Amino acid sequence: MTATTGYGRALREAADELAIDLDAGTIRQIVQRLAASTGEVERRGETLRQQLASARLEMIALYSSIEAIRHESLTDTLTSLGNRKLFDIALDHAILEARSSGTELALLLADIDHFKQFNDTYGHQTGDQVLRLVARTLKGCLRPQDIACRYGGEEFAIIAPQTSLADALLLADRVRHAIAGRDLIRRATGEHLGRVTVSMGVAALAAGDDLQALVGRADGFLYRAKAAGRNQIVTDIPGAPKRDVA
Ligand code: GH3
Ligand code: MG
Ligand code: MG
Repeated sequence: MTATTGYGRALREAADELAIDLDAGTIRQIVQRLAASTGEVERRGETLRQQLASARLEMIALYSSIEAIRHESLTDTLTSLGNRKLFDIALDHAILEARSSGTELALLLADIDHFKQFNDTYGHQTGDQVLRLVARTLKGCLRPQDIACRYGGEEFAIIAPQTSLADALLLADRVRHAIAGRDLIRRATGEHLGRVTVSMGVAALAAGDDLQALVGRADGFLYRAKAAGRNQIVTDIPGAPKRDVA
């Protein structure tokens, strides 16, 4: 029997007894019984309040661990940029958003030049440090709306919403210059390792593009940047910024 059903029964019994003539002593007993039942209901209410409060805390803790797991599943462990899965989700979302708001959208793909050679010369661990440095440098060039991801091994992608192709090219050139401008120093020994450069392909969302079509075009431009000598940006605007002349 719960405290509230017991309390209801106590009230009904008291009401029945009060319907007949009673002396003061009996009334006192009835009131004492009712007071005891009320106390029980209050205690039960307090227990329930405490149980609710702790259930609420458990829910908050559960929610934040789900958020943490979700964040981890979308983050590249080496560079802390978004991973390929985040890239796919974010680009799909950005395409839908651009279509529904009628705004522009650009995609930038960057690939480190001759990185295999760098790894072969300085070792994989130093290569990893360079990947982290490139990711940090790239991130430092972004505007608040841009999303940077590690697209593959030594390839990075920037999703640039509300961005014209001309502005995306300026962003790409900032990234390319920033990366090429970093002196690479081996942490353990202080040894200077030279610099790395990136080649980039930049594409704007066109009517009828889906994710594959947009990525395919940016990738095609990146391929052409490699074929044309690396350390440059290719897009479909004639006269776009090209190779860095040192
Ligand atoms: P290209 O200029 O044509 O892009 O030449 P590349 O050598 O950069 O390209 P390739 O595709 O031949 O080699 C990519 C290299 O990137 C090979 C691989 O060792 C390196 N790489 C990929 N992922 C990682 C990683 O997580 N850590 C390190 N250290 N290297 C990686
Ligand atoms: Mg590559
Ligand atoms: Mg490469």
